[in-house]
Amino acid sequence: MNGTLYLCATPIGNLGDVSARCLEILNSVDLIAAEDTRRTLQLLNHFNISKPLTSYHEHNKREKGEYIINLLKQGKNVAQVSDAGTPAISDPGEDLVKLCIENDITVTSVPGPVAGINALILSGLSTARYAFEGFLSVNKRHRKEHLAGVKNDTCTLIFYEAPHKLRTTLSDMRDAFGADRKIALARELTKVHEEVLRLTLDEAVKYYEETTPRGEYVIVVEGAKEPEAEASWWEGLSIAEHIEKYISGGMDSKEAIKQTASDRGIPKREVYNEYHKI
Ligand code: SAM
Repeated sequence: MNGTLYLCATPIGNLGDVSARCLEILNSVDLIAAEDTRRTLQLLNHFNISKPLTSYHEHNKREKGEYIINLLKQGKNVAQVSDAGTPAISDPGEDLVKLCIENDITVTSVPGPVAGINALILSGLSTARYAFEGFLSVNKRHRKEHLAGVKNDTCTLIFYEAPHKLRTTLSDMRDAFGADRKIALARELTKVHEEVLRLTLDEAVKYYEETTPRGEYVIVVEGAKEPEAEASWWEGLSIAEHIEKYISGGMDSKEAIKQTASDRGIPKREVYNEYHKI
């Protein structure tokens, strides 16, 4: 029988956020596949867990993916951990999940921290609808195309960013979304120096002209304003005036009543009664 792949979420800064179930699974599997073995080793040492550890990251995911699938097919259980947070969110875990599905191997999750969701709930922006945009490309043209493609989205947007690219990204966002668009910049979440700045894009660009970006960032961007509904030509007219307009345009009264009722989204009988003052 095949083994199971466990996607184990680990802390994004504060070791106290690891779940009891995550520790239990890490303690029970045959192998832990880690994006960053050094970082995972710190976590394992802190909780006195001693298990075989292998690296699985962007640059070895093809060969390592096959190796892990073979172990799973031999009935071994494997835990996958990201360098921080939830595997498969902006990390190569996504590919391993696809491989398992293709090979009929059970995948299950041990949920926990996700930087983007924590930034969203602290942002003060709408949480009703949001889109996770991940990292922008380092390629200038692709980055601009990405931003242009989402500038009219009305949901809240969540981006990940590294400190050395923050200034360029904020400036590109100001060009694409406009100076007044609100954002929240969340950094060092769950750590001692956690900070959430709530600014406009223009304020953020200016702030980071004076301040050196430090730590990992999540940028949460307010969605575009909903386009305002166009005012109807008949607004401000009484029902009788509305009908008369159609009649003066050549409609007979029956047609005019029907059209007026449809424009206003009210029953024909109501329009008829009002017109004839019944
Ligand atoms: N899988 C992770 C998750 O669940 O959020 C994300 C991994 S991604 C490679 C790393 C990015 O997540 C960082 O560049 C940063 O944008 C964000 N991030 C991770 N930890 C963070 C923290 N403590 N505070 C703010 N952002 C963080």
